[in-house]
Amino acid sequence: MNYESTRGSMIKKTGAQAIVQGIAEDKGLYVPECIPALPSEIKDMVGKSYKEIAYEIIGAFFDDFTKEEMDYCINGAYDEKFTASDVVELKEAGGAHFLELYHGKTAAFKDMALSILPYLMTTSMKKEGVRDKVCILTATSGDTGKAALEGFADVEGTEIIVFYPTGGVSQVQERQMVSQEGANTHVFAIRGNFDDAQSGVKKIFNDDDFAAQLAAKGVKLSSANSINVGRLVPQVAYYVYSYVKLVERGVLECGQPMNVVVPTGNFGNILAAYYAKEMGVPINKFICASNDNKVLTDFINTGVYDIRPETRGFRCTNSPSMDILISSNLERLLYLLSGRDGQAVKEWMEKLDKEKVYEVSEPVCEALNGFFGGFSTENDTLSTISRMWAENGYLMDTHTAVAYKVYQDYLAQTGDKTPTVIASTASAYKFAESVASAIGIGSCEDGFAYVSALAETTGVAVPYGLRDLDKKPVLHTGVVDAAAMADAVMGALK
Ligand SMILES: *Cc1c(COP(=O)(O)O)cnc(C)c1O
Repeated sequence: MNYESTRGSMIKKTGAQAIVQGIAEDKGLYVPECIPALPSEIKDMVGKSYKEIAYEIIGAFFDDFTKEEMDYCINGAYDEKFTASDVVELKEAGGAHFLELYHGKTAAFKDMALSILPYLMTTSMKKEGVRDKVCILTATSGDTGKAALEGFADVEGTEIIVFYPTGGVSQVQERQMVSQEGANTHVFAIRGNFDDAQSGVKKIFNDDDFAAQLAAKGVKLSSANSINVGRLVPQVAYYVYSYVKLVERGVLECGQPMNVVVPTGNFGNILAAYYAKEMGVPINKFICASNDNKVLTDFINTGVYDIRPETRGFRCTNSPSMDILISSNLERLLYLLSGRDGQAVKEWMEKLDKEKVYEVSEPVCEALNGFFGGFSTENDTLSTISRMWAENGYLMDTHTAVAYKVYQDYLAQTGDKTPTVIASTASAYKFAESVASAIGIGSCEDGFAYVSALAETTGVAVPYGLRDLDKKPVLHTGVVDAAAMADAVMGALK
């Protein structure tokens, strides 16, 4: 299985090369040259564990890894760091199946991919004979940063640098990051929003002079953002797993379709679901849920991707991990929907960069019919949390609530009774203040006090990664302008 760029350069790479490099030479994203079929039939996967299914799925994409190498990666990643009975949980509530992906170290779904990425990365470095140190550059809207820091802390041969938007993350998320231990970890707040952070990181990646300066120091850049295909592929596994579980539980018969709802920011998670369908998992509808930053809702409905400031401004919402206007992984979907037309994708992406708007072709627009786009306002998100808690005793975080709200809108519009899996992307405790206020807890002193109050009121256990956060010392205090990110990287690597 080789990897090619979404922007048409047609240079082929192995999986290991694509993982180490992160982003293609022509600025495109790596995608598998064809999406592999499921390596075994669904009925034969019934009864298998998460690790067994992950081994099959990830192994199908990265077939340049030996059995020993893949075993090492899977076993290192999906161990007792995950407190769920089988890495993830699939729970029924309010007429939907919630795929809880947040039982790892940092209490967000990012752990699913970022627990394995360091293993895939270091194994790839070995396979490729990379002697340079690999510096992982990461922009985060809050959850990727901590998950990447935990994954790469003190991993030999790597440095990890994280940029997060000041004021754009919850207090719990911020403390998780700035209290990170590990000699190779670096965390900076930037003056700007997530898009500024992500654009800054992409700019650094595309700066050949900068790369040459780093090379002279024996350093090579790579990415832990979902632009890295090593982030995307592990996420495909849990959609296959959830289908298998629904069959196992008799909710579905083999071959019957399910719907998938994903609270979406950078489009990585929902794209993984799309890959699962391309592999052969019967998926009927991809329901793409946004918050007030509803670029994707509008795009799915019109075929026009529009982030011009006169059309919309960037909004900070109570689901901050989805406060994004430039959804990087959409590029990978457009590549597939356009019949792998790298030239067209390149033109759209360059238009987005320069004119802040592009319109896809008619056939791509039609292919978007497999998606339903909807959004939830901040108030709707809070009332959705409140109702679910009152009626079903099920506690959702703000992102999952966005998804559930959009699912209800979808049901009202379509009456579609297909069994539905909702990607539940974070523990409610990561956004304790919003969730607490949604269920009627009065005001508390700070974000940490909300965690305690929420635990007291709901009796839901606080994830181990979030306990006693307020007592953890702040180790990273750097704040930089978005324009000074390259200098910060250079300084960190001294
Ligand atoms: C990152 C994140 C999302 C968005 O996922 P994408 O793959 O970027 O679309 C949604 N919810 C939470 C809690 C997240 O951390």
